[in-house]
Amino acid sequence: MATIKIGVVGAGLIGLSTAVCISESIPKCSVAVIADRFTPDTTSDVAAGMLIPHAYPGIPISRQKQWFRETFNYLLAISNSSEAADAGIRLISGWQIFRSLPTEETPFWADIVLGFHKMTQAELTKFPQHVFGQGFTTLKCDSLFYLPWLMKRLKGNGGQVHIKRIENLWELCDTYDIVVNCSGIGSRELMSDLTVFPIRGQVLKVQAPWISHFIRDGNGLTYIYPGMHDVTLGGTRQKDDWRLHPDPENSKDILARCCVLEPSLCRVWGIKERVGLRPGRPELRLQREILSQDGQQLPVVHNYGHSGGGFSVHWGTAIEAAQLVRDCIAELNGPSSKAKL
Ligand SMILES: Cc1cc2nc3c(=O)[nH]c(=O)nc-3n(C[C@H](O)[C@H](O)[C@H](O)COP(=O)(O)OP(=O)(O)OC[C@H]3O[C@@H](n4cnc5c(N)ncnc54)[C@H](O)[C@@H]3O)c2cc1C
Repeated sequence: MATIKIGVVGAGLIGLSTAVCISESIPKCSVAVIADRFTPDTTSDVAAGMLIPHAYPGIPISRQKQWFRETFNYLLAISNSSEAADAGIRLISGWQIFRSLPTEETPFWADIVLGFHKMTQAELTKFPQHVFGQGFTTLKCDSLFYLPWLMKRLKGNGGQVHIKRIENLWELCDTYDIVVNCSGIGSRELMSDLTVFPIRGQVLKVQAPWISHFIRDGNGLTYIYPGMHDVTLGGTRQKDDWRLHPDPENSKDILARCCVLEPSLCRVWGIKERVGLRPGRPELRLQREILSQDGQQLPVVHNYGHSGGGFSVHWGTAIEAAQLVRDCIAELNGPSSKAKL
């Protein structure tokens, strides 16, 4: 059987993790990542990288839970290995707090994170404006380490990397047998998928080395996430807003909101503003499609639209995308195939 050539479009978190997963789980294939932007210039580089799932509408909770479980367990194993520092992955404890009782006191992911509990009154005294809270230990991926680490892993597996903007997936059909589309917000143009929309996120990366616990307001708008070399303060969630430059009013507001949750943050220094466009979509797209043109066929696996929760599910969606690639290979090798293999 000839080597199967797989081209992955996108070098953010989803493209790199999917490419690594394919290169490690599918024998006799070559993998190349093609993208116009690489770390540190992708949306994924702006994210805090916390594993706290975001519920995806239209997708059964059991499937989302599996994606989260697979991602959590995979990263937990890395955090317990000698690779943890290079990969930028570590365990982190903290609180998610609510000003009124949430509809769901125990979220679907409560039995996957470690030590999930409803906060005691003693714990809540730190947050006098909040009436309810959840304490737990989860994982954080520091993207400025994790993305280069994934890239190194991919190259170590023989994967190739090409800097190129793709205007149309058919450009890739002479070079690759299967194309995997992980172009995030870029899918709006590349696939003419007008259901994809930006959810603008502005954050501050600050120096505050005394902060060791995460704090997240239950509405997900205000958060304090300590990382390896800085603390991420957030945030904004501005739908259909394409602005990539920082808005000084947003920055002032973020710092003020975070100081209400953690007053010691009034002493932060080294403030850097960052903006990213989360790839919003009514439903995350993880599916196979056969493109046809002039009697030619191109098998495509889509993996995009992770919105505000890509880090929390990326390895689970990469595993499922790799399975879809295996299904494409089985079809290409099948007896009725008119394919080129
Ligand atoms: C402020 C902020 C905070 C966040 N915090 C968290 C968090 O704590 N936890 C969490 O789980 N998630 C978080 N997220 C969400 C997470 O960052 C995203 O879900 C994830 O990064 C999406 O990854 P992606 O690879 O799909 O997109 P991207 O990182 O945008 O990568 C897309 C890639 O596709 C390439 N591309 C696009 N179009 C083309 C084209 N036509 N030709 C060639 N290449 C193309 C781009 O160059 C890029 O390489 C946050 C997001 C933001 C903005």
